[in-house]
Amino acid sequence: MIVKDAIPNFDLFQPTQLKDALALLDRHGKDAWKLAGGNDSLTWFKERIKRPKAVVDLEGIAELKGIRETPDGIEIGALTTLTEIERSPIIQGKYRVLADAARRVASPQIRNTGTIGGNASQDARCWYYRYGLPCYRAGGNTCYADTPEGVNREHALFDSDRCVAVSPSDMAPALVVLDAKLVVRSSKGERVIGTDEFFIGPKIDITHLTSLKPNEILTAIRLPKEWAGAHFYFEKVADRQTWDFPLVNVAAAIVVANGVVERSRIACGAVSAVPRRLTAVEEIIKGKAPSADLASLAGQSSTRGARPLNYNRFKIPLMANLVMRAVRDATA
Ligand SMILES: Cc1cc2nc3c(=O)[nH]c(=O)nc-3n(C[C@H](O)[C@H](O)[C@H](O)COP(=O)(O)OP(=O)(O)OC[C@H]3O[C@@H](n4cnc5c(N)ncnc54)[C@H](O)[C@@H]3O)c2cc1C
Ligand code: SF4
Repeated sequence: MIVKDAIPNFDLFQPTQLKDALALLDRHGKDAWKLAGGNDSLTWFKERIKRPKAVVDLEGIAELKGIRETPDGIEIGALTTLTEIERSPIIQGKYRVLADAARRVASPQIRNTGTIGGNASQDARCWYYRYGLPCYRAGGNTCYADTPEGVNREHALFDSDRCVAVSPSDMAPALVVLDAKLVVRSSKGERVIGTDEFFIGPKIDITHLTSLKPNEILTAIRLPKEWAGAHFYFEKVADRQTWDFPLVNVAAAIVVANGVVERSRIACGAVSAVPRRLTAVEEIIKGKAPSADLASLAGQSSTRGARPLNYNRFKIPLMANLVMRAVRDATA
């Protein structure tokens, strides 16, 4: 009998300094695993599909926690929990779309331990991959979802390349529309990257959803002032109202001045391997007065180029409606 609820042995390290955590990652290389809230990590361990030899628990590193105002905006430590983000007066006041997205993630228990860094870095939720099958994303040479019988109603509409899994994160599109910068550290130094460089698709690396390297830790997320106080919108549709990943979600930041859309950023999650920024829609609405007709045009335009699989065609009108509602909300 296969025992699936006992986690195989590993060495657990609980550093309290970032430099010590980075040194551990250097020492253990690909055998190491970075642990934040554990919501994604522990499932992999219990299923015995990922078997790290060294787990580096980031929880004790104080500098990775908290929300700070800076001259350029705010900085959120990567180990800050989703509950803290949801309840933060600064985020609610200036970057509400992030608090709204956090509120729609999973359950209160998961939000109490799940971190923003872990949520942004979480792995794909494709059933076949999570079950441990040797598909492309697991290093194999086939995709079980993109077949005539494949269960693919949760999968991608855009930009797939062999793998059709999607970015499952509710926080990711909110980070895109806030033009977040992600601070990534290794023992060699720091790189500060945009969401377009952090989230990656299968054409770049089919086995990862982010550009994080094994020796790197996401330490913080910076939100620039530029989008503070914009008109925000977040909406998610899932099979259930609680404890479920998005079928499609939308986040929008829209600045209306003198009765017209001055600038906007709009993104959808769960439709491709990365949160999909809708630059064509942003161009269409720029300089126009928000109206029901403009919202409808935005919705229809958002799904151009979609290539549905056997069972996810329903995502096309779903996405169009969510984008329409996001733009229509700016007329209020
Ligand atoms: C039942 C269930 C339902 C869920 N529903 C949703 C949902 O509706 N929407 C949604 O968005 N999410 C959902 N999630 C995901 C959840 O919200 C967590 O965000 C996610 O599981 C990971 O967060 P964590 O802090 O627990 O990270 P962990 O599980 O510890 O880590 C996740 C991954 O990120 C890596 N990692 C973590 N922190 C860092 C860091 N600072 N630097 C580098 N790498 C790092 C880890 O190595 C690991 O690969 C759900 C999870 C579960 C179990
Ligand atoms: S969609 Fe991606 S993760 Fe799922 S079976 Fe295909 S290759 Fe694997």
